[in-house]
Amino acid sequence: MQQNRIKGKIFDIQHFCYQDGPGIRTTIFLHGCPLRCPWCHNPECQADDFNNTGLKEKTGRNAIREIHVDEALKAVLEDKDFYRESGGGVTISGGEPMLQTDFVCSLLDRCSELQIHTAIETTGFCDWKHLDLLAPHTDLFLFDLKLVSPTMHSKWTGVDNAVILDNLVKLKTAGQEIIVRTPLIAGVNDHEEFAGILTFLRRYELTRMTIIPYHELWVAKFRSIYGKEPQRFRVMKETELNMHRQMVLEYGLQLID
Ligand code: SF4
Repeated sequence: MQQNRIKGKIFDIQHFCYQDGPGIRTTIFLHGCPLRCPWCHNPECQADDFNNTGLKEKTGRNAIREIHVDEALKAVLEDKDFYRESGGGVTISGGEPMLQTDFVCSLLDRCSELQIHTAIETTGFCDWKHLDLLAPHTDLFLFDLKLVSPTMHSKWTGVDNAVILDNLVKLKTAGQEIIVRTPLIAGVNDHEEFAGILTFLRRYELTRMTIIPYHELWVAKFRSIYGKEPQRFRVMKETELNMHRQMVLEYGLQLID
């Protein structure tokens, strides 16, 4: 198989993203995720029957589809002038990119050849061999860390977090550029749980962190896909968000927007 004919299963490509790494970015969302977070802002990444829901027609959004590396690269190159001006690039997100390492590896290499900055957003829930394989092919990892308490992590995401914490430390030890991203969910990982995350990050000198405030823009999408109400969480006030941002700084960590 020629490398540029490798296919990836995606559910969206978004242009002009500001929150998926430095600068203006094109984010490619890969389908499939081993976690089941009830607050998931991209519920289509888990829905195998997405194409049969009529959501594409209702919303105009893309459906799950397979694309070749060349097609993905073409979409990335549409914005190459913006990358240069803003210090941006391409981010492979999901879902979980580690489920499709051949596609990710090939696309990242093509981007690197063209001097485009590359980032991978990962749940970290995978065999170390996948991260180890992709590490030389990317400039930055956006590593999601939701909870450090094993019990709470299993309760809220459906999987144990031992491998996630282990992989995060291994990536750090390997000298990779990492920004830890934490979705801040009221009643799940705020206050003491959040302090636990910060303690873990400080212990392993993982100094850069982004907080992703919970919002409800995904709720209508969830209803369209699954035909039922999702579990909802309280949207935090700005004062509460600022209190958590302040905690990050008090732990000596750098807050990345
Ligand atoms: S890890 Fe991310 S993509 Fe996967 S279910 Fe959780 S929020 Fe959604």
